[in-house]
Amino acid sequence: MTMGTAERKKVSIVTPFYNEEASIQSFARAITEMADECTQVDFEFVCVDDGSTDNTLELLIELSKNDTRFVIIELTRNFGKEPALTAGIDIATGDALVPFDADLQDPPELIPVLIQEWSAGAEVVLAQRSRRTSDTGFKRQSAALFYKVHNRLSSVKIPENVGDFRLIDRAVAEALKCLPERQRFMKGLFAWVGYKPVIVQYAREPRSAGETKFSKRKLWNFALEGLTSFSTIPLKVWSYIGLGFAILTSTYAVFIIGRTLIYGVDVPGYASILVAVLFMGSLQLISIGVLGEYVGRIYAEAKQRPPYLVRKTHRGDNEP
Ligand code: UDP
Ligand code: MG
Repeated sequence: MTMGTAERKKVSIVTPFYNEEASIQSFARAITEMADECTQVDFEFVCVDDGSTDNTLELLIELSKNDTRFVIIELTRNFGKEPALTAGIDIATGDALVPFDADLQDPPELIPVLIQEWSAGAEVVLAQRSRRTSDTGFKRQSAALFYKVHNRLSSVKIPENVGDFRLIDRAVAEALKCLPERQRFMKGLFAWVGYKPVIVQYAREPRSAGETKFSKRKLWNFALEGLTSFSTIPLKVWSYIGLGFAILTSTYAVFIIGRTLIYGVDVPGYASILVAVLFMGSLQLISIGVLGEYVGRIYAEAKQRPPYLVRKTHRGDNEP
């Protein structure tokens, strides 16, 4: 891609905000500093307020009044990070898009590097965390386990230690917009649309301010979302488990019947019967539970509700 002045490219930085009033000032300072230094492209900062209950929205609108590069999307309530990011990607107008968290855990200085790779022809530039020392041991281990399980079970492989922070070309953003699903596991969708990635390494920092918005329960649900969105193996595995047990138990049945015919009725056996009944019972409950996970998602998709609703888009020039 050539970058003459005749065809200046625009890059959209897309950031979801949920109760981030403590991070906004440093975010705005860092991102505008980066943009002012990176002169070969124009910038747009798409900030999505995901139904914050603190002053986030007011502070964002304030920013947009002083700097027309800020576009503020106000959602009607808290929809979650993935829908908020989807809203930002849908509304961004840049030739390339960079999803970027509000808490400055990812270094803004890396954005020019991503842009450089994009200018050199990359369609997707992935920012890969070379170390996760800023995360707790639990989060690191659970993340490693998630990637391992997910990539074993799913035909769409998610690159390890790559968050949403990356650069995607307009073509990739358009491809994402074509995916009609309501439950948007962005990491998986990014991987699903394909395109050739270039990988850039970086170190992830601790949050600049505020607290993580993801509890352990949210992370667990997030992992389930990822698995069920991209693999049906958990559904199908029950046929094989069932088949295995059918073969085992029928062999055992032949043995018991033979023994009864030869040695007569043998009454004791309370323990083995109870164990078999309880074990098969729990196995059936687990498999019904897995079915439920999928049926619940089919239900949500079938309702066709939009993933997010926008109350208003604030731009510096349309504010009173
Ligand atoms: N976020 C959001 N909606 C939510 C939860 C989080 O828009 O319901 C935003 C949050 O404001 C931040 C980004 O998603 O910009 C990542 O959140 P966080 O830093 O808490 O996640 P972590 O880095 O701990 O995974
Ligand atoms: Mg964070």
